[in-house]
Amino acid sequence: MGVRISRRGFLEAAATAIPLGAAVEPATGALSLDKLSSKAASAVARIVDIHLHFDENNPNFIRDLVKLAERIDLTACLLTPYAHRAQVADAAKQYPKQIVPFGFVDLDAPDVLVQIKDLHALGYRGLGELEFVRKPYTDASYLPVYELANQYGWIVMFHTGIVLRRSFDQPEDVASYRMRAFHLEEIARRFPHLTVIGAHCGNPEYEWAAEVARWNPNVFFDLSGSTLTKMKSRLAEFKNIFWWSGQGEWKTQTPANDPSAFIKLVFGSDSGLDGIEQVANQYQALFNSCDVPASTQKMIMGGTLANILRL
Ligand SMILES: [Zn+2]
Repeated sequence: MGVRISRRGFLEAAATAIPLGAAVEPATGALSLDKLSSKAASAVARIVDIHLHFDENNPNFIRDLVKLAERIDLTACLLTPYAHRAQVADAAKQYPKQIVPFGFVDLDAPDVLVQIKDLHALGYRGLGELEFVRKPYTDASYLPVYELANQYGWIVMFHTGIVLRRSFDQPEDVASYRMRAFHLEEIARRFPHLTVIGAHCGNPEYEWAAEVARWNPNVFFDLSGSTLTKMKSRLAEFKNIFWWSGQGEWKTQTPANDPSAFIKLVFGSDSGLDGIEQVANQYQALFNSCDVPASTQKMIMGGTLANILRL
């Protein structure tokens, strides 16, 4: 989300810290690595975070990010306010393994298409996090944005679900229903060269999010935000939401032909640099509660995005 008010402050501190390596151990699950493409296999150890907001309040943010990324083997899709586009483009050229530049634009800005062309010329790889829209995501006025991103073959990440109040005493033209997960279905179908990522898995409409992801190969969701905290004591319920198998009756199209429904998740932290490992631990708790195969875990934590971004 665009407002950097200590969102992690809303969340409880995680329980015991688990070393990050726990999330990326060699495959021991039902799938063997030879079922993954060799490219995926080479990418699996790396964590790719689709949801890291550039911190305008930290003058050393790039330095701190690169340091962390080298320590935990992380690539961050860095969601960058337009004003900081050149700085982050330069940083991404200097640190291509650590930083993938994504442009944060306001879909309602009159010059949004000009901004997007500018970002493309600077080497940006996608847009996000789109949010705080004046109209539902599928409004016709936004289609030229998706059309352009589709031409670029970009990843576009949308906030989905409930959204915070930026101020508790000022009027604001913001409504969660404009950002419901089911809107992503139409965008994904009309623009098949897009990869559509829904942040927060539609919180609290997880079922809609999962079903949209199920039938649309170019849709994925992250589980950042309050969900993994809220659901901490009942994470196994996600087995009822990501319930199908792509290899059985439901021949859905998935990365590496992975039959697990959980393959439709990607890792996103939506956290400060000091919170990424904690969110990775929360994902690991979900994997453990839902018996997510080790090979699927690796795709969620980085393999899927590494393939799409050709890292
Ligand atoms: Zn968000």
